[in-house]
Amino acid sequence: MKRIFPLAAACLMLTGCGAQHANEKHSRDVFAMDTYMLLTAYGNDSVNEPLIRAEEKITALEHMLSVTDAGSEIYAANHAGGAPVTVSGDTAAILRTAADVSAESGGALQISVYPVVQAWGFTTGSYRVPGEAEIAELLQNVDDTRILIEGNTLTVPEGMQIDLGALAKGYTGDAVTALLREAGITSAIVNLGGNVQTIGTKPDGSKWAVGIENPFGGDQLLGTVHVGNKAVITSGDYERCFTAEDGTRYWHIIDPADGAPADNGLRSVTVIGESGLRCDALSTALFVEGTEKAIAHWRACDDFEMILVTDDRLFVTEGIVNDFDAGSVLPWEEITR
Ligand code: FAD
Ligand code: MG
Repeated sequence: MKRIFPLAAACLMLTGCGAQHANEKHSRDVFAMDTYMLLTAYGNDSVNEPLIRAEEKITALEHMLSVTDAGSEIYAANHAGGAPVTVSGDTAAILRTAADVSAESGGALQISVYPVVQAWGFTTGSYRVPGEAEIAELLQNVDDTRILIEGNTLTVPEGMQIDLGALAKGYTGDAVTALLREAGITSAIVNLGGNVQTIGTKPDGSKWAVGIENPFGGDQLLGTVHVGNKAVITSGDYERCFTAEDGTRYWHIIDPADGAPADNGLRSVTVIGESGLRCDALSTALFVEGTEKAIAHWRACDDFEMILVTDDRLFVTEGIVNDFDAGSVLPWEEITR
């Protein structure tokens, strides 16, 4: 009994000590993919090592997926003159989701729209308004159905160029959260500039709160969603945009139907679901589709919820309504199945 007591006391002290540090916040800032990222995990000091590995994973994915990095798989495919190239499982997975979401959105998502995005200057910041003839010519090579992905073999037809900017950050968030989960982390939030992905709940057991930014400017949020183990991914017209000399504003999400910024009354789309990759692809596709088609698209699926922001109201799908707190900027209405 005498010998057990000190052991038990030592155990209690250890447990007490562990409990003191178990829920500490550990964060890592990363700048990659032209985006400020913040990785936050709760636990003791052992969560730092997986956070470092998460940063390394982000850098590796950036080199693999960047359209401008001459060593990337996408660069190789874009410059192969129509010949097949071998890609990693990561790239193949992203391409398959791109093809699926392109098909289910009636071609609203087209990763081959990249040359048009380039022509508007969104890739460099040297903004311009391309002429109609220039856009018409570029649109001749925009057609995702001509991209071949068979196993790990990718063929981009000659004259076409692809870019995964619409959905690769979502995949990156999935890879990071998987890595942190495998390291035993049960409470984390990863913010990849407008793409928020969460593990578990906050250390106190409550859900994570993710704000819906105000596309009209100002600090007031349009609302807040409360989630656990979910991705919350937003595409908006306010992220990368410019105002031409005549006062017209243009933004970086292009409608492949006419090669101009998608201008259908939607200001932002937030998609909430399990897969960051799919939610990211959807956020861009639904933004191009516009309110009516986006609602029809949501009704045809059962694996995501969404918040659509227009100039005068928010549309919130029924599956997220109970976890949504409205702000006071705009009224909102529920969308039911
Ligand atoms: P989302 O709505 O998710 O995506 C919009 C983007 O998708 C547009 O910016 C455009 O590129 C593309 N797009 C537009 N319309 C369509 C459409 N109809 N269908 C398909 N795609 C469309 N940016 C830089 O300036 N410099 C860099 O070095 C750089 N490196 C990057 C490396 C990687 C691996 C990735 C994934 C992105 C990189 N970016 C870079 C791009 C930058 O981060 C983009 O702004 C971002 O990917 C767009 O995401 P979003 O969440 O803002 O918008
Ligand atoms: Mg997207």
